Amino acid sequence: MRAAHVSPWGTLVGEVMSQQTPMPRVQPFWQRWMKLWPTPRELAAASPADVLVEWGTLGYPSRALRLRECAIVIAARPDAQVPATYEELCVLPGVGPYTASALLSFQFHARIAVLDTNIRRVLVRVFRAEERPASSAPSKTERRLADSLLPVDGIACAQWNLALMEFGALLCRQKNPSCVSCPIVELCAWTRAGRPVASVKLRTQAWKGTDRQARGRVLAVLREGHALGASSRVVLTRAEALEAARLPQADPRQAERVLKALVADGLVVEDEGGMICLPGAY
Ligand code: SF4
Repeated sequence: MRAAHVSPWGTLVGEVMSQQTPMPRVQPFWQRWMKLWPTPRELAAASPADVLVEWGTLGYPSRALRLRECAIVIAARPDAQVPATYEELCVLPGVGPYTASALLSFQFHARIAVLDTNIRRVLVRVFRAEERPASSAPSKTERRLADSLLPVDGIACAQWNLALMEFGALLCRQKNPSCVSCPIVELCAWTRAGRPVASVKLRTQAWKGTDRQARGRVLAVLREGHALGASSRVVLTRAEALEAARLPQADPRQAERVLKALVADGLVVEDEGGMICLPGAY
């Protein structure tokens, strides 16, 4: 996805998919998407239902709808190409500072730091003796530090960003970092300080019993019945949709709440008769 032969569109799709999903899980989905929708024009013409079906089990499916909206915006540009400036990228649906930076670095070889969770963790450990970043979004201080380390050349910057990402994912892991075999252990402020534990505990994202799990169950039922390019709608009655959303031992109000949220997020539509289907599944 970040290889030199991949198009800017392919990189954008891969970066959005990997925002909240590990790269190995993303790979087969990305390959399928690139076959189906190799340019923004093809995805812009796809139905939201097909897009949600092909998003499958990647999680946080609103990202699929944002990607389609992004494709529509790009396809409407005079050249129908992914823009190459930070400002233009950041106004695209589903594209934030991280995705814009990754695209600029890996595709356009801009001299820019890509601050993903792995890189941020490495930098705060090595330079600030902290176990992990204190905030969910990079601070100005973090960005200044990352910028100050960048090589002069754009291609070297892309390699630097990729190398730091890999280093954080494989060696300087969140849990059990391999400090014993780390080539920069002598430079690492966190290790020299005795690896102090962050005072605020890491919030792990629960799944079992959550609204996310219940939402996933409703979407899974609708996805399973919807073939790509299907000419007929796959519909559930309201009662069937609520049944799909109902988790064992859950708050009885959860299923109603989940269904309402799915409609509000545009992930399903409910007609006047209470029939429920994927958006644009005609
Ligand atoms: S010594 Fe440990 S914490 Fe420091 S950079 Fe290496 S792996 Fe990460």
